[in-house]
Amino acid sequence: MKAIIFGAPGSGKGTYASRLQIKLGVEVISMGDIFRELMKEESDLGREVKYYVEKGLLVPDEIVVEVLKKRLSKIPPEKGYILDGFPRTLEQAKTLETIAKLDVILLLMVPDWMIIERLSSRRICQNCGTVYNLRFLKPKVDGICDKCGGPLYQRSDDNPEVIKKRLQIYQDQTSPLLQHYKEKKVPFIVSNTTSLETPPERVVEEFTTELKKLKLA
Ligand code: ADP
Repeated sequence: MKAIIFGAPGSGKGTYASRLQIKLGVEVISMGDIFRELMKEESDLGREVKYYVEKGLLVPDEIVVEVLKKRLSKIPPEKGYILDGFPRTLEQAKTLETIAKLDVILLLMVPDWMIIERLSSRRICQNCGTVYNLRFLKPKVDGICDKCGGPLYQRSDDNPEVIKKRLQIYQDQTSPLLQHYKEKKVPFIVSNTTSLETPPERVVEEFTTELKKLKLA
């Protein structure tokens, strides 16, 4: 299965993709995670990426495509994958079409107020990347990851001003891709989240059921 998980910042792409990874045994390629790793490096590329990410701006397409190709080349050809955070522009979508044929789009529909609520209380494990939420998906011990005991931190782009910018860019540049994929007749599986308390497992269950119907799981 070659899928993209699509939705606004804070719609839960990373949370669901990591659970689907375990459940279905597919790889997940998260552009945001790859960039955050690069940002830790003392390299020109790391510094350049940081410049954009911290402002909530899109990293230029040339860089994104290069980084993606390098990551994809490490995946065995028979293995399925879910792309999280790619493509985010029409240019990126067109490049992807030259690399792979998409089987499905997993679309997360979440109202704006919920996104803002979630992003501002999101915390992430510095060690293993597990995502928590101080209000709705709390760690058992404050500030500590349930899975590996690592410290939790808040992303530098999860502050109100940058969140606003990211949402605006999603509206302007990324959401038009949905129309593009509809025209290309790529199948969609849509999940509508309307409550902050919906457990991630339920969404993962819904996706898995629908993927089975498409013979992709
Ligand atoms: P979110 O979906 O919550 O905004 P991500 O972790 O997916 O967060 O991405 C964080 C940041 O990394 C984005 O705001 C952007 O600066 C950069 N980024 C990630 N993916 C891409 C992409 N495909 N194209 C350009 N920039 C990207």
